[in-house]
Amino acid sequence: MLALYFFDFLVSLTTMKAYKYRIYPNAQQAECLRQHFGCVRFVYNWALALKDRSYKETGKGLSKREIQDRFVHTLKKEKTWLTDVNSQSLLAALGNLHTAFTNFFAGRAKFPNVKRKSSGWQSFQCPQHVRVNFDQGVIDLPKIPGIKARFHRRFDLEQAKIKTVTIKRSPAGHYFASVLVATDATTPKPSVIESDKTLGIDLGLEHYLIDSEGNKTPNPRVLRTSQDRLSIEQKKLARLHKGGKNRQKQRQLVAKKHAQIANQRHDFLHKLTYQLVYKKHATSYAVEDLHIKGMIKNHALAKSIQDASWGIFLTFLSYKCIDAGKNVLKIGRFEPSSKTCNHCNHRMETMPLRVRVWDCPACGTQGICRDTNAARNIRDIGLADALGKSVCVKSSHTTSSVSAGVVSKGTELLAQYGSQEAPTRTAQAV
Ligand SMILES: [Zn+2]
Repeated sequence: MLALYFFDFLVSLTTMKAYKYRIYPNAQQAECLRQHFGCVRFVYNWALALKDRSYKETGKGLSKREIQDRFVHTLKKEKTWLTDVNSQSLLAALGNLHTAFTNFFAGRAKFPNVKRKSSGWQSFQCPQHVRVNFDQGVIDLPKIPGIKARFHRRFDLEQAKIKTVTIKRSPAGHYFASVLVATDATTPKPSVIESDKTLGIDLGLEHYLIDSEGNKTPNPRVLRTSQDRLSIEQKKLARLHKGGKNRQKQRQLVAKKHAQIANQRHDFLHKLTYQLVYKKHATSYAVEDLHIKGMIKNHALAKSIQDASWGIFLTFLSYKCIDAGKNVLKIGRFEPSSKTCNHCNHRMETMPLRVRVWDCPACGTQGICRDTNAARNIRDIGLADALGKSVCVKSSHTTSSVSAGVVSKGTELLAQYGSQEAPTRTAQAV
């Protein structure tokens, strides 16, 4: 029995993890990278136009195979300069376009856009022949060997298999390499959900996070603090002559400011989720599945909500929980967590935002912080959804049996969060 339990504790499966490193190409390497970005963009746009034209003329698109054939037999012979770059990166661009179309036809994405030089982020992929040397601190790409890199985190080179490497240049002019590796690493099996080891989490604007134990984390309001400096620089940019060299410089400065804000925000969120997952006795975390996009439409609060980046918080919390064998219980979007008394279940008609303390007219509970009360309700609803026990009378939801991971209503397992760090772009977009 004991032995069985022991082996049951770990789940072995091949997992994909992305490691994102900052890289520092020298002038010659940067020129080579620039050439790669340009050629990949050219091939992508060429294939997009070809597909579009074929559709307009014949009413039929071109298959992946047909486009690849035309690329190899026609385009590459006409444009001989394409042979200067890694041909696999060019083929990967065709693969990406194919995926973009598949997503478009499945209704998951918009029609693929033409890639522009001025769009800020530039990227290309290397599907093979990339070598990572942790000891020397360099990464070797096909045709561009020996790029200096800062490896802040290592993976097991013997055991892990490098799948693809994506090279990116940010609008601020920083270079990154995202190394996607497949490992047979064992991840801990999600622990059993227990009511006394579940922490309710309420996300707010005054305090960033309030838990059901009454702990409060202040909101750093990163963007608001840096906002003044940013808007001065943005105004300067708006006044500069289009197409001029100074405008280009100023644009990079604004992009750097944005990147700095995103970094500060990520730093705060990584530390906060680390504290929650690795420094608390709790094994499950109940959170609201926030309808963020809908809330941003409320213009009065939009900037603050964007600044708070609750979506990134949930992403970070989820993948850290999977790594640690803990659970995330997501509760529905419109559960009334702030209007109900956690003690007696009495429901208030109104609960204006300025009322910060919970005084219950029904059971006489007094002086409980409004947000702590809400966090406790979130904990109870999350538990009721996951366990379906009558202990948690406050939820009217049907039950779902759960052995955990990331759980929302109806036991939906969120995407496998493999990435160690979400891309910086998400921070600016959310
Ligand atoms: Zn009450």
